[in-house]
Amino acid sequence: MNRGTKAACVQNSRIHIVSGLKLAMVRIGAVLTILILSLKINPNPFKAVRLLRSLIRERVTIHGNEGGIKAVKAGKKYFWSTNVPGWPSEAFNHFIYNEFQRIHSPLESHLQTIFLGITNVCPLNCIHCFESENLSDKDNLSLEELVNIMEKINNHGIRHIHLSGGEPLSRFDDMIELLRFSGNTKEFWINTSGFGLTREKAFVMKQNGITGAIISLDDWDEKKHNAFRKNDKSYFWVKEAVRNCNEAGIIVCLALCCIREFATEENLDRYLQLAKEMGAVFVRIMEPVKVGRFSGKDVQLDQFQIGIIDRFMLSRNSDPAYAGYPIIQFPGHHQRRSGCQGAGNRYLYIDSNGQFHSCPFCRKPLGNALTESLDFGIAQARAAGCHLFQQRTLA
Ligand code: SF4
Repeated sequence: MNRGTKAACVQNSRIHIVSGLKLAMVRIGAVLTILILSLKINPNPFKAVRLLRSLIRERVTIHGNEGGIKAVKAGKKYFWSTNVPGWPSEAFNHFIYNEFQRIHSPLESHLQTIFLGITNVCPLNCIHCFESENLSDKDNLSLEELVNIMEKINNHGIRHIHLSGGEPLSRFDDMIELLRFSGNTKEFWINTSGFGLTREKAFVMKQNGITGAIISLDDWDEKKHNAFRKNDKSYFWVKEAVRNCNEAGIIVCLALCCIREFATEENLDRYLQLAKEMGAVFVRIMEPVKVGRFSGKDVQLDQFQIGIIDRFMLSRNSDPAYAGYPIIQFPGHHQRRSGCQGAGNRYLYIDSNGQFHSCPFCRKPLGNALTESLDFGIAQARAAGCHLFQQRTLA
């Protein structure tokens, strides 16, 4: 990898990676916040410290990344993961409170995050699309129905919401209406291809409460990415989207679907370098799953390829030489060791038809959010469990 090149880093000054002494001070502040929250639950200081220690032991499971030598500063908040609200914030406090409740009563659900599909429409035609069965040229849910579902999410106290689709940008005005309806106590992320994410849209999204964008980029090579997405403008829009989000103050995570041919250390290093140069501060590596257009196809990574990604993630997240590089998240690594965080455990998926599923990759309709309560969906998902986790632990 060419780490010596002086590639222009386009990271927004409001969004950058912190490490070293600065991070140590930030961590002290975050731990103090958590200790105060613990004391509110347990006035006995010994019990409060014990609770704090239990939470610290859970840290890697919660964050979905290891290393701990860097965090992302965005505006006045600090982020260790795309899975956890930024500190300091009311959403962060709520998240921690929920985790304390989980320690007290591990058999109950303490849902933290909802993935919500808001549209069936998408301009792309990706070879791996896990949503292919739900894609259409028109939306199945009206705005009113989406608001109805969002009201249930709000009433349940969920503070961390990932909007997806289809392509959520295909339904831009309705998405903004949903954000306005939800108020500003929640943290919203958008899962997007970046297609059509103009500067103007990025600023409107930021003004209405989008914290971060998880933008799909499936290769460092423009032609290969465009072939994967079956659209020769896709790579162009990824670059535009990253730049526009940075300018608007939206955190960028690049999401890679790491197919077999890509799973080499050299490819991963080139990707990480490009992500840094574009201005992303997180990289999420996803494994191909036999759902949607990959159904029935021999796409799963083998143990050797998984090992390459594991070592890559662990080393680049902990090596001080990579302190300025994006934080890598590899959910498969933690899922194999700590179990599934979806299936009504920490998160739940509601697709663009309103159907509950354990997660976007564990697809089995479990009832509809329009007619059923969120508690019903959570109970169904917990009962159904995660067949992906079962496959991975058996592999
Ligand atoms: S993977 Fe996402 S961007 Fe690609 S076709 Fe499916 S919904 Fe659209």
